[in-house]
Amino acid sequence: MAIPREHFAELLTQVPLGEERSFDHCECPAGMDTRRRLRIRNTDRAYLIYCFNCGGHSVVPHGTRSYIRTIKELLADQKELETKGLGDTVMPGGLVSDPRHWPVKAQAWVGQYITTTEAIDNEITYSHDWQRVILPVYEDGKLIFWQARAVHPGQSPKYISVKGVPKPMAWKHSSNKKWQGCIVIVEDILSAIKVSRVVDSVALLGTSPDIDCLSERLKEYNYVGIVLDPDAAGTTKSIELHKRLSLVCRGKVIRWLGHTKQPKEMDNAELEAIPRGL
Ligand SMILES: [Zn+2]
Repeated sequence: MAIPREHFAELLTQVPLGEERSFDHCECPAGMDTRRRLRIRNTDRAYLIYCFNCGGHSVVPHGTRSYIRTIKELLADQKELETKGLGDTVMPGGLVSDPRHWPVKAQAWVGQYITTTEAIDNEITYSHDWQRVILPVYEDGKLIFWQARAVHPGQSPKYISVKGVPKPMAWKHSSNKKWQGCIVIVEDILSAIKVSRVVDSVALLGTSPDIDCLSERLKEYNYVGIVLDPDAAGTTKSIELHKRLSLVCRGKVIRWLGHTKQPKEMDNAELEAIPRGL
């Protein structure tokens, strides 16, 4: 969602070139922001504006002609929102879809987990505006969510999620039919992509999931494995999830498949071993 220009116009002069400042997003549609969640970065090309409260964003390129173009884009954006309904997810700007044209750091981060083909198939992209790898979530061909992962030194926080839309789960179907009827629950998108080399997978995206929604979608499966991150938080979450799913998913085999690695870090042999534990 585009942030109206009047929300930040007066703040732009307070951000020197090459720097970043945080402000309260006073008219934030997500509710009053008193924690300076409106971030404005002044790059050599443009002001990049993002609100960590409402997920709204805006880009104001430097120079008069670009400024007019930006306003046009914002108006188009607004029109698009009106026709498609509020809450539609829009990808961040400056996307580079071909991983071979990404900065080396971005290629290296993604490349340590998945192949270039997997990145392209799952429409993982890089945003020059954000200087981050964009991990999108599509449902029935429609973009419903994305996360922007830091890949350059000094970037914080590690993940930024598009706000203003409910955090979904990311479902990845496997083309391997050997383990039909089985599904593995993981934490993050890359882990789901990785596990789907072998068996269907769903990423909870780090949240405590909506159990009703999850159990509804699990109906088509007989075996459900849980492989969350091997840290303390992941372990607590796995036990909790196992308990709750066992209560609502009657007649299914539900197993917590503890492991010493995150699924995205596993090699093919380790991935193939996962459904054998079900
Ligand atoms: Zn806001």
